Amino acid sequence: MSYPFGFMDEYAKKEVRRGILKAIAIPGYQVPYSSREMPMGRGFGTGGLQLTLAAIGPNDTLKVIDQGSDDSVNAVNLRSFIEMTCPGIDTTASTEEADIIQSRHRIPEKPLSEDQLLVLQVPYPDALVVVEASEEKRKQMHSEADYSRLLVKLYEDIVKFGEITLSHRYPTRINGHYVIDPSPIPRWDVPRLHRAANLTLLGAGREKKIYAVPPYTAAEPLEFDDIPFRVEDFRDEHGHRRRCQRCSTDDSFLDEFINEEGDTVYQCSDSDYCNTRLLSASAIKERCLG
Ligand SMILES: [Zn+2]
Repeated sequence: MSYPFGFMDEYAKKEVRRGILKAIAIPGYQVPYSSREMPMGRGFGTGGLQLTLAAIGPNDTLKVIDQGSDDSVNAVNLRSFIEMTCPGIDTTASTEEADIIQSRHRIPEKPLSEDQLLVLQVPYPDALVVVEASEEKRKQMHSEADYSRLLVKLYEDIVKFGEITLSHRYPTRINGHYVIDPSPIPRWDVPRLHRAANLTLLGAGREKKIYAVPPYTAAEPLEFDDIPFRVEDFRDEHGHRRRCQRCSTDDSFLDEFINEEGDTVYQCSDSDYCNTRLLSASAIKERCLG
């Protein structure tokens, strides 16, 4: 059986594109759309997938990552589905070569350019859902930029734990108005949304919402004057910044895991960044030895 290019019919793609344009025009606003059934379960990135399928053209190069890795099952499945339904596109693991990057839970370490589109898969689009159950009331709070209850929630965290304990989905104010749930990216990635050169689109398939952080737009995590927002610092017990055990870099977001010897080790979460670092390190070594 053959499918139209991009799996969805032209009418469906047009509707998603209209949603994208509206989302860009009102930065951070959640635009409702009629999320289509995809041949995979909702919750497996169908929102991101519909954005990618509506935006991609036959001459584009696509990268799909999950938690920074090109090789995880979810990324491999999404990539092969898009390849199958979009004949002519190229795929890559290189952040630099990609025109469109669809991602779950990470923003690539290498800053993206104006020519690149980042698509983030979103499970829960509304940052206010933790303080208000009614969507109608949440819409009103968003329109009035009333985030006082969200700030109280963060304050309660500080009272209880001495700091804001949110590790993912950190509420972030876009263009001075709407506060978004930036998807389950770590805090590390939040400052990299701020005035980024690229367009970031966020898609929630199950919740039927599209929103955007347009290029060069302010994206500021909620914080208090005396308790500023901070990212993960990856320091060991002596206060030294941990390094990736594979490429030795000390400026990336690290994943922690237990190796075969039972020791805790750290490695770059962004596999393309790690590979690039490793390659340039071995090239320098070769040049020095040669
Ligand atoms: Zn590394």
